Amino acid sequence: MFCGRNEHQVPVLLKGMHSSICSDCVKGAYDILETNNVSHAQSSHTHNEHKHNDIPLKTPVQIKEYLDKYVVGQDRAKKLLAVSVYNHYKRINHNHSSSKDEIELEKSNILLVGPTGSGKTLLAKTISRLLDVPFTIVDATVLTEAGYVGEDVESILTRLLQEADYDVSKAERGIVFIDEIDKIARKSDNPSITRDVSGEGVQQAMLKLLEGNVVNVPPKGGRKHPDQDFIKINTQNILFICGGAFEGIERRIAQRLNTQIIGYNRTKTQEVDKDNLLKYVDSSDLRSYGLIPEIVGRLPVLCYLDYLDKDTLRKILIEPKNSLISQYVKLFDLDGIKLIVKPEVLDLIVDTAIENKLGARGLRSICEKIFGDAMYEAPSLHHKTFTVSLSYAQKHLNEHQN
Ligand code: ADP
Repeated sequence: MFCGRNEHQVPVLLKGMHSSICSDCVKGAYDILETNNVSHAQSSHTHNEHKHNDIPLKTPVQIKEYLDKYVVGQDRAKKLLAVSVYNHYKRINHNHSSSKDEIELEKSNILLVGPTGSGKTLLAKTISRLLDVPFTIVDATVLTEAGYVGEDVESILTRLLQEADYDVSKAERGIVFIDEIDKIARKSDNPSITRDVSGEGVQQAMLKLLEGNVVNVPPKGGRKHPDQDFIKINTQNILFICGGAFEGIERRIAQRLNTQIIGYNRTKTQEVDKDNLLKYVDSSDLRSYGLIPEIVGRLPVLCYLDYLDKDTLRKILIEPKNSLISQYVKLFDLDGIKLIVKPEVLDLIVDTAIENKLGARGLRSICEKIFGDAMYEAPSLHHKTFTVSLSYAQKHLNEHQN
């Protein structure tokens, strides 16, 4: 017996050859595994790996359910990512087992367009915890064309290779999240840029990766140099997820929508949701923003993320498994203090975040200003509870802002 209780004291008792375990202990053990990021899929994968190279599939619904625990809203993006990741696994398993004359499944790289702090990176990070293929997040802003200061585009794959413990075949079925892809867009609007340091050259180099080529990868990353040994990686089965805020793209979307309406001489003016133009984003807007058409073509799945409104930001504060407020409650709890946060304080935090225009990204720094002071004061007060009222929060927020 695992916990010492007999079958009359537990809901269900599972009997083995020499010992038994109750349903409560099974649940407890599962929670421990989950918090340590060892999902069932991962553990069973290592077990199965030696038998055949197939990756166990989690269904899109299961993937989305997992994302729901950590990411508020953004249902469209979640579903799309879930399906793409699911298909990625299917494709790898299929291409791995199929003979040459069978249908080869091609990948569909993804582009997430959404404002800063709307959860693009969070989605990618959360999904990576569920996966048992190598996964890496890279920032496109550090990449430059060969010959300039910065990192070669191929260094993206160095990271993936490192994630795969330098196992090339493992890296070749990995997933890469390229953040801030909009920062490598051609800056055609800016006449002062005479050299294309981070524009088209980088895009051309990146295209080679997205297209599916055999690429020479410097094992240690950074800049390639001639005497170096390279590792060859085929990117055909690597799934690329790109994310970017594409600041100002709304203007281009609005322009296009206007000309379309005039151009087609529509009698009935289409209802356009002017507050959320991003939802009309299409590949032509990306091109006019400065992504070369070939790159746009290699990112066929285009998804926009919603602006986080007041309601969603409030939910983000309290609902996810490791929400900000629950983290502060825990920190106080470790000192034996019950933290009470008045609902008006949550509204204040959310309103301030909206003013700052940083999306959910601004929530933490606002919370730090309020709860940071509380954490300083509370332990020496020796009270059992600490209540953060609206006036307390306002006072401390103002002090930091001045
Ligand atoms: P982006 O990549 O879109 O700029 P991030 O994913 O880095 O934004 O978000 C920044 C922080 O804001 C995250 O660490 C997370 O705490 C929070 N956040 C953003 N969007 C959400 C969301 N939809 N649900 C829960 N938390 C979110």
